[in-house]
Amino acid sequence: MKKRVYLLILTIVITVSTQSCGIFNREVKTVQYSSSFNNNEITLIMEADTTTPLRVLKTTNLKDSIILRTKCDNITPNTKDPFLNTLIKRMYATVADSASLGVGIAAPQVGVSKNIILVQRVDKEGEPFEAYINPRIIQWTDKKQECPEGCLSIPNIRGVTKTRAYAVLIEYYTPAGEKKSEMVEGYTAVIFQHETDHLNGILFIDHL
Ligand SMILES: [Zn+2]
Repeated sequence: MKKRVYLLILTIVITVSTQSCGIFNREVKTVQYSSSFNNNEITLIMEADTTTPLRVLKTTNLKDSIILRTKCDNITPNTKDPFLNTLIKRMYATVADSASLGVGIAAPQVGVSKNIILVQRVDKEGEPFEAYINPRIIQWTDKKQECPEGCLSIPNIRGVTKTRAYAVLIEYYTPAGEKKSEMVEGYTAVIFQHETDHLNGILFIDHL
């Protein structure tokens, strides 16, 4: 009888310690995956693999238009944020996809209201796409340039904008969290102005 009671107590102790371990593990995981994205954004980002394009929001859809006109929030750049890494890869898959081919894309265009853009650096060798976190234009030249523009989110409209600065000074974070600033000019400067406008709910048609 004494032996049975002893065994029962031992079983309870083991069960309790195993459960505590389980709770502890879950808490550690939550801290590890702390992210700048909300649950809806995480679901959207993670619903397919990194090579699958995201749906591009269009001004022809009322719900999409509201998101496209919303001012975005800053994020905390963190290379350990799996959602940021996946979002950048899927934004690249989207802008490089034949169905929505472009020279730049902003996160709100895929339904994520965060300050993230991808720009094709047509001024660099190999014209690579680069990701910019919380980008801001901090200086503009008075000199303007005319540029034919279109937008992945605005079907069948193209127009020549005349209000784009010839060169701009941009300030941003790399996805690894390094703060940088850089002067860009010509067509590259137009792409940066077009994409940073998106983060403030401004579209190129506003400049026509
Ligand atoms: Zn656009």
